[in-house]
Amino acid sequence: MFSKKTIRDVDVTGKRVLVRVDFNVPLTKEREVADSTRIRAVLPTINYLVEREAKIILISHLGRPDGKVDDAVRMDPVARCLSNLLGKQVQKVDKTVTDEVKAAVSRLKTGDVLLLENVRFNPGEKKNDPEFAKQLALLADIYVNDAFGTAHRNHASTVGITNYLPAYGGFLLEKEINELSKLFKNPDKPFVAVLGGNKVSDKIKVIEKFLDIVDVILTGGGMCFTFLKAKGANIGGSICQNDETEHSLKMLKKAKENGVGLLLPVDVVVAKTIAEDAEYKIVPVENIPDKLMGLDIGPKTIRTYEDILSKAKTIFWNGPMGVFEIEQFSQGTKAIATAIANSQATTIVGGGDSDAALRKYGLENRVSFISTGGGASLKFLEGTPLPGAEALLDK
Ligand code: ADP
Ligand code: MG
Repeated sequence: MFSKKTIRDVDVTGKRVLVRVDFNVPLTKEREVADSTRIRAVLPTINYLVEREAKIILISHLGRPDGKVDDAVRMDPVARCLSNLLGKQVQKVDKTVTDEVKAAVSRLKTGDVLLLENVRFNPGEKKNDPEFAKQLALLADIYVNDAFGTAHRNHASTVGITNYLPAYGGFLLEKEINELSKLFKNPDKPFVAVLGGNKVSDKIKVIEKFLDIVDVILTGGGMCFTFLKAKGANIGGSICQNDETEHSLKMLKKAKENGVGLLLPVDVVVAKTIAEDAEYKIVPVENIPDKLMGLDIGPKTIRTYEDILSKAKTIFWNGPMGVFEIEQFSQGTKAIATAIANSQATTIVGGGDSDAALRKYGLENRVSFISTGGGASLKFLEGTPLPGAEALLDK
């Protein structure tokens, strides 16, 4: 459970409150916000601060500008989107810590909202440079972290700044940690984890942790081929991380010891290329032809997984079952997303692509909770402390 002080624990009225948010949203070609989920997720915190007449300064990163100004990822589209969502004008400045920004802050009236420029234009951000953190801190009286998606990063605006300002959690950070914590607090059984996505290395620590708390792990996506290879199967040209085979074998052994079902697909959809016009066929998993890649779970696997999911009481899902961006390889992900949406279980989803898959099939309102942080949710679930949350004041 979230054990840090939140904005409920401090008087914010009339104060300058700097809120680190994660507005790292996808943009359209015309540079408008393509999906405002992450912006809407922070509205409870912003509205609370507006109602209590704070002076609100928002800061976020967007994209990967790598310490340099990049016009393609300025925050202006976000400011426009947020203005619409709040129904009030959000001011935007083109810098983060200059005199121009200080002047804009000093002009703020209570209840005003100011959005600063992309924090990653500054090389000090990712280096967690103390001088940059100090400059940011000078803008405000109180610091709030509501950027769950960036809480696993040790950056100036997530960690360094807490050395210079009293630091509190926002409502999104609190909710994310509380929702994900429920998976460890007597979850209703059977507890089934569905893990896919491309890299096993991203997920192996979560698998290790889950082997102590779940009844079944259903695997798919690219990551299952490292397990299959480790077991001696011929995986053809499927994606595989050879340096993780040993680790994977250990997980299979631990699963057996713990009586947890660590299920691998029994059939897969294979093709020569990952392309819209690729020809495909379905083969048993022990029989992948040499030049073909496994790109989705097959129908037999889908039926088995659907059956297990229909009996689950708690489900966690991270990672698509196949290359769902391409029609021929999307059936597994679609079927599993649908089974999760139809389930009566508590259903928790993490991961940007899993979230995108749910939205693609219009199922995003039919799960209990979708985390706004892919990397951050996995780190949290594997038991790695999130520096952005750790750095806040204790309750
Ligand atoms: P999430 O963002 O939900 O955590 P990941 O980023 O780990 O998920 O993985 C998503 C990506 O994995 C998708 O782009 C998808 O195309 C890819 N993927 C899924 N299955 C395969 C596969 N069999 N081979 C190659 N890539 C795959
Ligand atoms: Mg992803």
